[in-house]
Amino acid sequence: MHCKAQNPNCGLETGESMALGVMGVMPCNVCCSEPQFCRECLCILCGKTMKCGHNSFTSVRCFARLSGGEFCAHGAHLTCALDCKMAGVIKALGLDMEYICRRCDQRTDLREHVIRLLESLRYVHCRYSAETNLTTAFQIMQGTEADGARQLLQLVESALQMVHNGAKIHDVYALLHGRDPEVVLD
Ligand SMILES: [Zn+2]
Ligand SMILES: [Zn+2]
Ligand SMILES: [Zn+2]
Ligand SMILES: [Zn+2]
Repeated sequence: MHCKAQNPNCGLETGESMALGVMGVMPCNVCCSEPQFCRECLCILCGKTMKCGHNSFTSVRCFARLSGGEFCAHGAHLTCALDCKMAGVIKALGLDMEYICRRCDQRTDLREHVIRLLESLRYVHCRYSAETNLTTAFQIMQGTEADGARQLLQLVESALQMVHNGAKIHDVYALLHGRDPEVVLD
């Protein structure tokens, strides 16, 4: 199987496909019937390229198993999902740090994404990327009533302030990981 969007970094081309590599994906006659659309590497909300592979935490993929046992496997940029009000804490949809897939309406928990976004500060040295990743994590948790996430939210707010004030990313990372975010969020 090859990438219909001709993206050389697509998981289908690099062999890192997490979605279409699994057997049995949901038949889709909406986006996937388009000749240039690739379910593996394009965002269903903006149609632009997403990073593929195991380290891609800036996008979310729906691994819901649908009737018939197939996987949905459509994905979206987290920023697009947040902008479209399809991710984060959205009371009207009953979402709490979750993403709802436009294609199949199933939810995906985003706590793992928050953890990986915060973890990214360990190897991200660019201030802009650090700020973008922190902002995304912040937006996923904003408005939640879960105790752990509220504590983490305050930390992320302080972390963003530190980044703005020119602190070393290493110090920002240390602040965020004084306690393991995974334990805090649990
Ligand atoms: Zn592709
Ligand atoms: Zn599709
Ligand atoms: Zn997008
Ligand atoms: Zn889905």
